[in-house]
Amino acid sequence: MSAVPDHHMMLTPARADLTFERGEGAWLYEKDGRRFLDFGSGVAVNSLGHANPVLADVLSAQAQKLWHVSNIYRIAEGEALADRLCALSFADRVFFTNSGAEALECAIKTARRHFFAKGQPDRYRIITFAGAFHGRTMATIAATGNPAYIEGFGPKVEGFDQVPLHDRAAVEAAIGPETAAILIEPVQGEGGIRPVSTEFMRFLREICDKHDLLLILDEVQSGIGRTGKLFAYEWSGVRPDIMALAKGIGGGFPVGACLATEEVASAMVPGTHGSTYGGNPLATAVAGKVIEIVSHPEFLENVRALGRDLNQRLAQLKAEFPDLIEEIRGEGLFLGIRPSVPAGDFIAAGREAGILTIGAGENVVRLLPPLNIGEEEIREAYTRLHAACMALKSRQRQG
Ligand SMILES: *Cc1c(COP(=O)(O)O)cnc(C)c1O
Repeated sequence: MSAVPDHHMMLTPARADLTFERGEGAWLYEKDGRRFLDFGSGVAVNSLGHANPVLADVLSAQAQKLWHVSNIYRIAEGEALADRLCALSFADRVFFTNSGAEALECAIKTARRHFFAKGQPDRYRIITFAGAFHGRTMATIAATGNPAYIEGFGPKVEGFDQVPLHDRAAVEAAIGPETAAILIEPVQGEGGIRPVSTEFMRFLREICDKHDLLLILDEVQSGIGRTGKLFAYEWSGVRPDIMALAKGIGGGFPVGACLATEEVASAMVPGTHGSTYGGNPLATAVAGKVIEIVSHPEFLENVRALGRDLNQRLAQLKAEFPDLIEEIRGEGLFLGIRPSVPAGDFIAAGREAGILTIGAGENVVRLLPPLNIGEEEIREAYTRLHAACMALKSRQRQG
């Protein structure tokens, strides 16, 4: 990366000096001709790979018909997708957004409005967890609680109380008369692929029921088959009252969704919320096809099998490089490597070896391949990560 970039983009985020021209399945092609195996999937977004021909057909057919009308009209593609999402989940109602943060904003507003409608407007506080990531809007940075994301942006949005993950006593102590909800990712993504234990998920559901709180799940990253179940909450069987989705649901088309039970969503009456683009025909046509494909039981079974395969390869790599890899973690195709070197060095070495991965908290390297990846590509990933480890090792010896 040059010190003075030759472009006019704001310098957030920090960018790698790579410009991809074309993608196909799990592969990305740099404009200089290099080919990379993409195990980042645009941060868990390209759930069915790059330029998926089935999705491209749906997108172009919809583009010939109707792009946008505004949700002041009925949108058949959106209604079909909402029907499908509700049939496949705990939910009865869906609000479509353009992003994950907006889905969380809707979730937060829905929780607060529920208590307002019940005549308890003072109940607006939401308990969140250390290591969380919920987005970059004003409310979602407050929910995320990471000081680096909050600093310099004026007063922090009120009403978020953060406690350590897996700490029951801290949750109980944080609950007060103003508490409305508990918000959690069933597997923390940005936090470093940290799965929440089934016991803790059950505890949260019980404590929510006991205190009449709402349980909000952020499945923006863990949802849509990433863990080998359509929604990660299915592993624990703990059903939320509200859930946010995005990332993988559009397969690369920007779309998110906030799902809720009828009881909770009934407070979101006309005029309380809106979005100009949210759920437009292009977005919901593509997302409808993604859900149709990913929700198929055989597809999900295959994600679990591929996840086991990749996990085994990573375990092999860990055995071969015990002083370079400390831990392999995660579920399905939502996997993390915790190296003993800085994660950034590991990712850079991977890039040089032709495999793209993504950093996360706790010095973790995230592996988020497309959910329809092939076994040969998993073998290829192993080969390339092996080459990256060899390079890191020889550098260690020299250093
Ligand atoms: C990415 C992410 C978000 C934010 O989604 P955006 O589309 O970037 O706004 C929220 N929650 C989780 C768990 C995420 O991984």
